[in-house]
Amino acid sequence: MDISVVVPLYDEVESLPELTTWISRVMDENRFTYEIILVDDGSKDGSWEMIRKLQTGNPFIKGIKFRRNYGKSAALNTGFIAAKGNVVITMDADLQDSPDEIPELYRRIIEEKYDLVSGWKAKRHDPLSKTIPTKLFNAATRRMSGIHNLHDFNCGLKAYRNVVVKNIEIYGEMHRYIPVLAKWAGFTKIGEQVVEHRPRKYGKTKFGLSRFINGFLDLLSIFFVGKFGKRPMHFFGTLGTLSFFTGLVMAIWIIWEKLYNIAHNLKYRDVTTSPLFYIALVAIILGSQLFLTGFVAELVSRSASERNHYQIEETI
Ligand code: UDP
Ligand code: MG
Repeated sequence: MDISVVVPLYDEVESLPELTTWISRVMDENRFTYEIILVDDGSKDGSWEMIRKLQTGNPFIKGIKFRRNYGKSAALNTGFIAAKGNVVITMDADLQDSPDEIPELYRRIIEEKYDLVSGWKAKRHDPLSKTIPTKLFNAATRRMSGIHNLHDFNCGLKAYRNVVVKNIEIYGEMHRYIPVLAKWAGFTKIGEQVVEHRPRKYGKTKFGLSRFINGFLDLLSIFFVGKFGKRPMHFFGTLGTLSFFTGLVMAIWIIWEKLYNIAHNLKYRDVTTSPLFYIALVAIILGSQLFLTGFVAELVSRSASERNHYQIEETI
């Protein structure tokens, strides 16, 4: 199969007929073999019934229905697991991304050998309240990830070589950072393509300011995961051990000094008047605490595979 189109959707019933017809038309015109994977992220507006209906007339549609709303990342992740095409295209359901971009995205993956090509909506129809945070977010992500050639990390329209989506796992708000995760997984040929940004035709956006804040928090956590995620003990454990042993050396020194003074019948100071005593005490306690923090983080990261515990209610 040439292409899997993965569409996460939450309450997008009005857009679905037009979207699937349009995708199929582009696929047929270009003679692609394909599937359209519609992941219904717990819609309440009859989107699932619409998917059923559309599927009877279009056998290339596959539907996956979540039991409730788990978020865009979980929906994409599910589509990634199901995708069989050599190239996987993700696009939003709301007709803001144009299926006409698919052939060129496909060509760049297959002919130019890109691992990932990300859409860039160079001209946006959004209010300043959205474009300004978006610009800041993209600048921060570029800096932290070292992927300097992407303008728009969060664009819903992207193309991937199949092996890429099989080797990344996304949850929370991480759909915003897929290029970063791909780079960390070793897929470094990442490109960009200017795409059209169409106004939302039906319904309204599901992402407000609170999502941006969650996104920034996730940015911090994924950078931590990227560096120490597999072995948090290496970070906390090292700091803790260093602190503990520094404290221990100081304590031994204090005790040795005291014993030496006793042995030589010298007048010795009470240890509790020595600042070194308190520093040693703090270092030992801090060291043990850091070590235990690392231990807990290690336990958490080992159960990380439980992050994507969403329930699929039905598939067609
Ligand atoms: N979406 C989803 N789950 C959610 C929120 C959104 O699957 O919890 C889908 C939504 O239906 C759309 C895509 O993610 O297909 C992008 O959402 P939206 O258009 O609201 O975001 P915007 O374009 O305003 O950034
Ligand atoms: Mg949209």
